[in-house]
Amino acid sequence: MEQDNRYHRQSIIPDWDQQKLTNAKIIILGVGATGSYLATNLALSGVGEMVLVDFDTIEKSNLNRQLLFSETDIGRKKADVAADKLKRLNPDITITSFPKSMEKLPNSIIANTTVIACCLDTFLGRRWANSLALREKIPMVNGGMYAFLGDIQTIKPYETACFECQPLISQEKLAQACTPLGDARKELVLEKELPKLPSVATLSSIIAGLMSQEILKLILGLGNSINNFLFYDGLYNSFTELELTRNKNCPICGENYKLNTAEVLAFKDEKVSDLLKRVALSFGMADPEVMLKGRFLNKDDIFIAKEGDTIYVRDERLATPIALIVKYLEK
Ligand SMILES: [Zn+2]
Repeated sequence: MEQDNRYHRQSIIPDWDQQKLTNAKIIILGVGATGSYLATNLALSGVGEMVLVDFDTIEKSNLNRQLLFSETDIGRKKADVAADKLKRLNPDITITSFPKSMEKLPNSIIANTTVIACCLDTFLGRRWANSLALREKIPMVNGGMYAFLGDIQTIKPYETACFECQPLISQEKLAQACTPLGDARKELVLEKELPKLPSVATLSSIIAGLMSQEILKLILGLGNSINNFLFYDGLYNSFTELELTRNKNCPICGENYKLNTAEVLAFKDEKVSDLLKRVALSFGMADPEVMLKGRFLNKDDIFIAKEGDTIYVRDERLATPIALIVKYLEK
């Protein structure tokens, strides 16, 4: 009977296929303000499986906009509380809580993901999420906000511009926006209070509404995706859509990079820091670290390796380290 079917009112939308939603799996990175609204929309719509990733705990200052949490939840893990509430909203779907930092997500959880929803509030976190989406070739919808301003980017790996192809913020701003991930970030917050982003429930729900609609469209194959960056100004009610172009020199998705076979040029008796400066410039990295034979090298040491050795470079722009082959040049 119609009234007994939870999804009846959406199922009568032309070309709606509820089974596609039942079969879908969404990873939600961050269940703060945007993540709460987005997860609620997707749970109500009947997305079959959701993984909620957030290491953070609930604070009183979250309660002006994070609708899945209440006073009695203060101090508990956001991912756990959100999973409990969403299961009550829709007991027919599977919700997994992952209350740890996202870098610890095992491949078994990442496998078979339909779309990643990036609802993080740090630039560094978004970079990592972008790198993960590209590595696993999973479409990602990324949303951000600042007071009454918000933006959304729909990233289809190797098809549209990724988060790194054309950064829209100046490098200085990007540097300021960078904070370490996970526990390191917590320590930094305690040590030196980071500026909090101004945030209001109305804007969070609008951006999350648009993001969840993008995700539903991607799952259902309906309409057009944002192509591929949308900026929203809530004070003046304007939407601006920009088509960012893919950058062939993008360190994450650029065609010029064949990172599995790339060489790194080294000079005899140079310092590790000099080598790393060259790696950063050549491969568009932010602050790379290098590992040789299983240990990280001190930046002040002399770089000692043999021609043809493989070094591994880790950087905040990469979800996994890349391997580079050492090739010596004479000075
Ligand atoms: Zn890119």
